[in-house]
Amino acid sequence: SYVDNAFDYYRFGDLITKEDNEFRLKLRAWLEKEIQPTINDYVERAEFPEEYIPKIRETQVFHYLVDQPFGKGKSILTQGIMAAELSRIDAGLGTFAIVQAGLLTATIDQLGSEAQRQKYVPLLRDLQLTGGWGLTENKFGSDATSLQTTVQKTEGGWLLNGDKTWIGNGNRDIMVVWARNVENNKIQGFIVDLKSKGVRSEVLKHKLALRIVQNCQITFTNVFIPEENMLSKATDFQKGTAKILLHSRLMVCWLAAGICQGVYDNVIKYISNRKQFGVPISSFQLQQEKLARIMSNTQAILLVSHRISQMYDNKKITLGQVALAKAFVTERAREVARLGREMLGGNGIIFDNYVMKAFADIEALYTYEGTYDINSLVGGRELTGVAAFKVPK
Ligand code: FAD
Repeated sequence: SYVDNAFDYYRFGDLITKEDNEFRLKLRAWLEKEIQPTINDYVERAEFPEEYIPKIRETQVFHYLVDQPFGKGKSILTQGIMAAELSRIDAGLGTFAIVQAGLLTATIDQLGSEAQRQKYVPLLRDLQLTGGWGLTENKFGSDATSLQTTVQKTEGGWLLNGDKTWIGNGNRDIMVVWARNVENNKIQGFIVDLKSKGVRSEVLKHKLALRIVQNCQITFTNVFIPEENMLSKATDFQKGTAKILLHSRLMVCWLAAGICQGVYDNVIKYISNRKQFGVPISSFQLQQEKLARIMSNTQAILLVSHRISQMYDNKKITLGQVALAKAFVTERAREVARLGREMLGGNGIIFDNYVMKAFADIEALYTYEGTYDINSLVGGRELTGVAAFKVPK
């Protein structure tokens, strides 16, 4: 007998209510039956699995990924644990979910007016509307606060000009765009209909991680945004954008936790069945040391994710605390994916054994929502009181 799943090892199911945990287990079984057998065909083709949308809608998992009252999400802890289940099957699916729920929906829910929340959040929660969230530009990645996409007041609304890149789900219905108000130089958020005149979106090709996620290069040429699409509580980077980044970086920790669980759960099964030199390869000391490292890292990641989620839910958390967690967790998960990959030998490079997907996908998690370096510097600024982003002149 062997420990067949990482989540139960330190009994993480005990951290959420019995009903929520029952939903999690149902979701896991559903994902293994309905999604796992076909997802890798989409991964191979780098295609978004459109056929899953109605099926996922039926499970109501997005109700758990969206805050009450529109969703059933009671805490970021519950939401994170559910997102990790998606990532345990495919981190692209997990990423689709956090772009849709943790970025787009959360922005409208937290920074929108009551009318915007009523209009959009139920549709987003039910995947009747899907979309993305755009901060990064061609010339401004890590240096996001210098972004140059602009909005200018016009009759009845705003005119948007500029570009965004890497936007996940940027070829779907709507997105939140962060742009500089030319009048006061502040960074503001807007809901943009991707079918508007002047929007041009192209899917980035040849991406080797998170293959099913459609990341887009988008240009805006005199795009008219009606006044009612301005996010009234998103009129300043620190109060608006940064608030959402704190939330979404925390969700990335849970996606990394899901990847690590996926690695452990696949590796333990494989090494217990595969025989070499007449015995299961799990009998070898060298394999066990690697497995112990995978499990220990996974538990550390789950524990850090749990603690910062509790602090978030208690409204006692800083940007630096989340940034350090995101940097640490994705860095440790990189080791987990690498070790898992090598433990499966040649079969470790086949998509279906999960570990190679994990190996590639963790690179994207390590980079998006602020790279490891940038999140370390955000944490470092808080620890020392000194910002070290720019080379001193
Ligand atoms: P750069 O900023 O050019 O950085 C390159 C290297 O320089 C990195 O190693 C970085 O750490 C280092 N570096 C930069 N500045 C410093 C510094 N001050 N000190 C030390 N080192 C530094 N963005 C969105 O807005 N929406 C999305 O949906 C989205 N999805 C994404 C999905 C994927 C798969 C990827 C890869 C990216 C996505 N992004 C998205 C963009 C992502 O947030 C950026 O890629 C990330 O912030 C890094 O920016 P960059 O790629 O321009 O790298």
